[in-house]
Amino acid sequence: MADLNSLVEQAAQACFRSRRGVALTGAGISIESGIPPFRGKGGLWEKIDPMKYAHIDALESNPAEVWQVLFLGIADLLTKAEPNEGHKGLRQLEQMGIVQTIITQNVDGLHQAAGSSDVIEFHGTHAKLRCMSCDQRYSWEAVSLETVPPKCGCSGTLRPDVIMFGEMIDMGLLHRSQKLSATCDLMLVIGTSATVEPASYLPVIARHGGAFVIEINPEPTPLTNRISNLSLLGPAGDIMQQIVGKVSELQKSS
Ligand code: NAD
Ligand code: ZN
Repeated sequence: MADLNSLVEQAAQACFRSRRGVALTGAGISIESGIPPFRGKGGLWEKIDPMKYAHIDALESNPAEVWQVLFLGIADLLTKAEPNEGHKGLRQLEQMGIVQTIITQNVDGLHQAAGSSDVIEFHGTHAKLRCMSCDQRYSWEAVSLETVPPKCGCSGTLRPDVIMFGEMIDMGLLHRSQKLSATCDLMLVIGTSATVEPASYLPVIARHGGAFVIEINPEPTPLTNRISNLSLLGPAGDIMQQIVGKVSELQKSS
C-alpha cells in the first residue's frame, strides 16, 4: 500500500489539474471542531442513540423529548464550534480555483463560516427554525426556549430546518447535486461514511462521469478501493492541510 506522503502527493496533483472540483462532506469533517458524529464513538451520544431521536417519527410522536435530547444539545454544540483546517482547506481550494461547490450533509454551517461561497446544504440547516404547520422560518433568537417545543404564531410546532431520517431531500438541491456530480472533474469525499442515501450515491455518479474521486476518512468506507481513486486514511484537518500546502507549491512553480 502506498504511504500517506505519496497519496497526498497524488491527491495534490489531481487537485492541481482540476478545474471543476466538487467536495462532498459529512459529519466527520466537523469532528475536529468538537461536533460528534451520530455513528460510532462520540462522547455526547454514548448514553443516548441519536439515530433513534433523529427520525421524523420520533419528532412527530414526542416533540418535547426530541427537543430536549437532540435539538438543544446540537444547538449548544454549534454555538461553540468553529471551522477547522478541513473546512478552511476547502475554502482555500475554492480560492485557488479548484473546488467550485461543496455539497454537505452537515447542518452546522461551518463551511459558510470558513468562507466557502457555494454550499449546498443537502440535509438543511440547524441555524433556522421552521413551523411544522405553516413553514414559516424563524431565527433561534426570535423564539423563547423556556418551554420546548417552541411554538409558531399559528400555534404550530417549531423545529430546526433540517432533514431528519425518514424525510425527503429537497428535489431542487438533489438535482443540482446530481448534475454537479455528473459533470465535475474531481470529487473530494471527506468525513462521510457513505451509507446515507442519496448523498452516498453522488461519488458513484461522479466516478461514472469520469471524475477523479479522492476520499479522506480515518476509516475505510464502501467507496474505498471501489469508487475512490485514492483513499487517504486519516483525519480531515491534517490531511487537507497537507494537500492544500502541496497544491499551493504546485501552483507557485507552474
Ligand atoms: P457519517 O455516517 O457520515 O459518519 C461520520 C464519518 O466520519 C465516519 O465515516 C468516520 O469514520 C468519519 N470520521 C471520523 N473522524 C474523522 C475525522 N477526524 N476526519 C474525517 N472523517 C472522520 O455521519 P453520521 O454522524 O452518521 O451522521 C448522519 C447524518 O446526521 C449526517 O449525514 C448529517 O446529516 C447528520 N449529522 C450532522 C452533523 C453536523 O452537522 N456536524 C453531525 C452529526 C450528524
Ligand atoms: Zn406556523
